[in-house]
Parts: sequence; structure tokens; C-alpha cells
Amino acid sequence: MTVPQYDFLAHGHGKTAPWMDLVNSEEWDTFGRLTDHLTSPAWVRYFLRQWHFPGAPYEKTPLAKLRALRAALRKSSQALFRSQAIPPQQLRAINRALNLRGKQQLFQRQNGLRMEFVPDRGGWNFILAEIARSFVDTVAKGAPARIKICRNHDCRLIFYDLTKAKTRVWCSSNSCGNRERVRRARARIRP
Ligand SMILES: [Zn+2]
Repeated sequence: MTVPQYDFLAHGHGKTAPWMDLVNSEEWDTFGRLTDHLTSPAWVRYFLRQWHFPGAPYEKTPLAKLRALRAALRKSSQALFRSQAIPPQQLRAINRALNLRGKQQLFQRQNGLRMEFVPDRGGWNFILAEIARSFVDTVAKGAPARIKICRNHDCRLIFYDLTKAKTRVWCSSNSCGNRERVRRARARIRP
């Protein structure tokens, strides 16, 4: 079954950074049922295309590695969301993904000779490293305080709060925010 691209965008994927999409590839519905988008080849294809990763068509999707990185990134986000340090175990898992093989190479550039590290770009290990690097970018160059977890405990989606005062609390005001407004309105009506 092919899922149209706008479906993924409507669910909030493909907007902020690859790492956030990976974390949000675990999606809970209002009944607490979990969908793991990593098991959907259409989602994985969309994800690779959306972030301009080289496709890895000859390699099986490394589910165990992706899930391990996803868990580490979720736990790290939760820690940052609570203004805590990233636990060492999660830091190790992120560093494992970042530890990419490659080679030192000498280049003759216009301004002289330069030694550069050239990573192995093929396959999923490169993609895993890039996902981890996108998290480092958000944390180091962006504002970790803007990493938020939806206030709806059934939802748990992670988002990047771009509001000036960092006051956003819902993943989407159309879904979770709206449900909350309806719930409050009902509570007011009840005698
Ligand atoms: Zn939500």
C-alpha cells in the first residue's frame, strides 16, 4: 500500500529534523495503540527522500539499530524537556551511531594541501550517523529548551517549539489541543 506524502506531512513528519521524525515514528493513538512506522516501507521511503538521504535499496532496514537510536533520542529528549542532563547510557547510544567508519585523505585544494576525514557514505550506518548528527545540531546550534513533548500523555509526540515565548504545549492544536478544549468544555457543562 502506498501512503501519499501529504499523509506523513499531516502527521507532522518531515518538518524539523530527521531525528525528530525517527522519534515520532512511534505513534500512539487515543486508545494507547502503538504504530511503529519503521515497519512501513512507505514511511521509510518517504523519510529517506524527505531528508535527501541516499537511498539504501540493497540493504535491509536495520530495525534493531534504528529502534535503539530512537529509544536513546526519546529518552534524551525527555531529559532535556525536564531540564536534566542526557543520561550516560543514552549518550553512549548516540555516540555509537555517530561513530562512522571512514578514511583520512589528502586533498590538493586551491589554498594548499589538506587532510580530511571522508566518511563511508553508503548504506544505513551513514544514515544513522546523520540522524544522530541532526540531534546534535538541534541541541548544540538550536535551543534544547524548544524540544517539547505533547502535553497529551496518550500522544507523546515530540515537537520543536518555534513560538517566541516557548509556550506551545500541544503537538498540534487541531488534534491534541482541540481534544483538550472539548474535554474542558464538557467538564464545564456537567452539573
Ligand atoms: Zn499530541
